[in-house]
Amino acid sequence: MGVIRRIGVLTSGGDGPGMNPAIRAVVRTALEHGVTPVGIRRGYQGLIDNDVQEMNARSVGGIIQRGGTILGTARSPEFMTPRGRMEALRNLNENALDALVVIGGDGSLRGALELHRQGFAVVGVPASIDNDIYGTEMAIGVDTALNTLLRSIDMIKDTASSHRRAFLIETMGRDCGYLALMGGIAGGAEMVLLPEVPFTPEEVLRGLQNAYIKGKSHCIIVVAEGASHRAEELKAYLDQHREETGFETRVTILGHVQRGGSPSAFDRILATRLGVAAVEKLLAGERGVMVGLAHGEAVSVPLEEVAGQKKVLDMRLYEMARMLDK
Ligand code: ADP
Repeated sequence: MGVIRRIGVLTSGGDGPGMNPAIRAVVRTALEHGVTPVGIRRGYQGLIDNDVQEMNARSVGGIIQRGGTILGTARSPEFMTPRGRMEALRNLNENALDALVVIGGDGSLRGALELHRQGFAVVGVPASIDNDIYGTEMAIGVDTALNTLLRSIDMIKDTASSHRRAFLIETMGRDCGYLALMGGIAGGAEMVLLPEVPFTPEEVLRGLQNAYIKGKSHCIIVVAEGASHRAEELKAYLDQHREETGFETRVTILGHVQRGGSPSAFDRILATRLGVAAVEKLLAGERGVMVGLAHGEAVSVPLEEVAGQKKVLDMRLYEMARMLDK
């Protein structure tokens, strides 16, 4: 195994808060060990286009509190092809990079696995607001996104109560209901609708009726975007049955606000710990792993495992939410 003198770092796929503190940690840990950090812009696409630049301690100054990613991110269909990946590998060689840290979601980590399979030294860092990455209790960005969602729920609750309204709040989460479920629990929602639990519009109608009968002044329903029915669709149905619901219904779609904002303390610390661990594990000779959080520790999980397994939502938490939405 060759000595590592130069380490590349990129952010890829969906952006999220906390990517910047992760970049900062990678760059400064590399420098601490006498390794030159090299930033690659716009994820795998930047690697293919050879959009790279050496970094130093100052290039990551003042970014720990900034949302987004200073390196930019991208989705790269070209990298999905063997030809694109060959081009990427050629540029890794051309820039004399001995190793690469990939910060991104499950797609980006699959891409990292492909590079590992080609014999390149790579370590992944999980960043995704959906918390859908296998092998880590928390991905970078989840906590900030959840807090943004929670602030919205709290504010909507105020106005919903004043007008005796039902609100459908749609969150991100195409395949994974983590944000919606945790937002629902922390925000004291009357209902959470998740991709993991199929439902009919009639059931939502019954939920509204129950809340009305119990004398609630509002009904907050948190809907993941990947749930059986989208918020707008449910509103149309509930409007048609207005006489039976008791509440007037409104929809708020949070969308991309959940991706922005200054990273929370938790995300900054997680990103810092995982960024440091990524470089240290590479220098210790580990290859083809993701660094994740398990029982409070930064651990390595083989990328093969991360790519091959699906993270499942803890349904006990869903049951807990249902028990408390009285
Ligand atoms: P995320 O990393 O947030 O899940 P994507 O799924 O869009 O986002 O993945 C980001 C990029 O990673 C893709 O645009 C592509 O370049 C690369 N990628 C995703 N899946 C694979 C794969 N199976 N093989 C190689 N590269 C992949």
